[in-house]
Amino acid sequence: MAKRKLIPVFLPQGGCRQHCIYCNQKGITGETSLPSEYDLWDMIPKKTDETWELAYYGGTFTSLPRSVMLRYLEFGQKLRRKGRIGSIRISTHPAYLDQEKISLLRRYGVSTVELGVQSMDDFVLEKAGRDHGKGEIIHSITLLKDAGFTVGIQLMTGLPGQTPNSIFQGIRELLPLRPDMVRIYPLLVLEGTPLAEMWRHGIYEPQTLVDAVSLVGDMFAVFCHYGIPVIRMGLQPTEELNFDSNFLLDGPFHPSFGYLVKSYLKRKQMEMLLERHKGDVRFLAFRNDLPLLFGDKRSNLRFFEQERRCAVSEAMLSRGDIALAPFDKRERSNVLSILREKEFFALYLERLPYWSELCI
Ligand code: SF4
Repeated sequence: MAKRKLIPVFLPQGGCRQHCIYCNQKGITGETSLPSEYDLWDMIPKKTDETWELAYYGGTFTSLPRSVMLRYLEFGQKLRRKGRIGSIRISTHPAYLDQEKISLLRRYGVSTVELGVQSMDDFVLEKAGRDHGKGEIIHSITLLKDAGFTVGIQLMTGLPGQTPNSIFQGIRELLPLRPDMVRIYPLLVLEGTPLAEMWRHGIYEPQTLVDAVSLVGDMFAVFCHYGIPVIRMGLQPTEELNFDSNFLLDGPFHPSFGYLVKSYLKRKQMEMLLERHKGDVRFLAFRNDLPLLFGDKRSNLRFFEQERRCAVSEAMLSRGDIALAPFDKRERSNVLSILREKEFFALYLERLPYWSELCI
């Protein structure tokens, strides 16, 4: 899939007929109303070409009043005709897609649809005020895939009533539908939402950061193993979304959540390699992977250094692979063992209790 540069346009809860208990798009984006055409022109960078994609986020695009939806699609089409973008992306809700809307999206050059799936568990979806069930999710992904769209799905962790088992059962049901990409968002408690009231009354307790990182890490490993890219983990920090504001009340927020997840999995990969050798060691990896091997504030190395001396060095390896060599730098070419990333994910899944039990 060719990588596109996105021009994000936020339609804060535009078209949403329900109020999901955790959502406050107006607070997250700082936008309070739908942008006019004048605003849209302001958002387009000066020099763009067909490698750019206009992305309408933050609402239920296909449930907007038809005239509004057409206005945004026509704006996108104008840009496409001028060669200023190559395609349009929208995000929407699984209950508001049918054959007629899909044809309309196609006609106006929409190529990617991101669906707010959140969970495949009807009980969890109902508690979250989502207004749709598993049936609508399967139906809408199938319609989109059959019509040739690139389909992204958004999943959440930490929803009320959700368990790791329900998450992994859901992923097992999603894999055969072949989504093209995934975003994973741990649930945060935001001011002005029903969830904030539940949290104040002690009815909802958020995930800890440690739990969220390991659970999202397990989900990431499953999707990677099945070749489905995870393009985002955790919400992007904004002026409004940080613990210094009065808006983010609680939950596993970290400005580099995705990095924490990836370095957590790197530690697991390093652990597997260490099972094969005793004594002091040196980990070797591709240059860009080194920050993941070190971990946040060198936490991965500090973890292993409780038992033995460890070091990390750059080597000519493929991205994701890790090799083990003697600790002495002069002997680093004497590789003791190598664990390719692909093999690591397969082994990791074999050991993942709620995944291996489901696959029996
Ligand atoms: S459908 Fe999406 S944007 Fe609309 S209220 Fe729910 S989470 Fe928010």
